[in-house]
Amino acid sequence: VTGPALARVRGFVFDLDGCVWTGHVLSPGAGECLAALQRAGRRVAFITNNSRETGAGVAERLAALGVGGGDAVLTPLEIIGETIRERYGASRVLVVGAPELAEMVRRGGHEVVAVKDHARATVVALGNDFDLTYERLTAAARAAAAGAPLVVPNVDPRLPLENGDFMPGCGAIVAAVCAAAGVRPVVVGKPEAPLFRIALARMRLPPHAAAMVGDSVPSDIEGARRAGMRTVLYAPDGGVPAHGADVVVRTFDELRALAGV
Ligand SMILES: [Mg+2]
Repeated sequence: VTGPALARVRGFVFDLDGCVWTGHVLSPGAGECLAALQRAGRRVAFITNNSRETGAGVAERLAALGVGGGDAVLTPLEIIGETIRERYGASRVLVVGAPELAEMVRRGGHEVVAVKDHARATVVALGNDFDLTYERLTAAARAAAAGAPLVVPNVDPRLPLENGDFMPGCGAIVAAVCAAAGVRPVVVGKPEAPLFRIALARMRLPPHAAAMVGDSVPSDIEGARRAGMRTVLYAPDGGVPAHGADVVVRTFDELRALAGV
């Protein structure tokens, strides 16, 4: 696929952090590009690997910035309860992460186990945790080492912020637990297939008729490529090494031109 082929793509799935927005600020031209795509009748959806918010919460933040949610706004929290149930049945889950993560695990029909009761856990759900303590880290590592599968929204190492700053992402905490426990995580979000499949179903498009636009090669580009979608790497700083994306854009204006809107 070359740039001009994007003019025939019928739907676009956008990553959020480091792509449509960074911190609380829309990327230059992103709002205009999304509005133009929707005006032109192209399908639009969003998949973010956010481990602390539901799709509804993220859609509210998009709306506050004047961006419509399109056909879907998806985060791994939507499906983490279901993923645990499908793989392990109704479980006793140690949740180390945001209250929203615990709530979505509970809504999936699981019992949430207190940190001090980590020995009872049959599954560990680990997300970005702004209240992380050594006690919580220890509980997650011990439960995982004892055999509870480690289920995580994503393994992205960083959460990009304004001005090139970042916070450690969910993947940084996951790496600590994996190192201590000697285990590998089960990833719910990108680059795994389920959220891509749901977005395509909501857009009513086959994979080859849709493109994923994102800034992460391992999560966005690799995941979308495996799902059979076209891939667009958003690389505002340029200088991208071998990336494997079909198209690389530096700006949303460039994407808009390639999409023919
Ligand atoms: Mg991103």
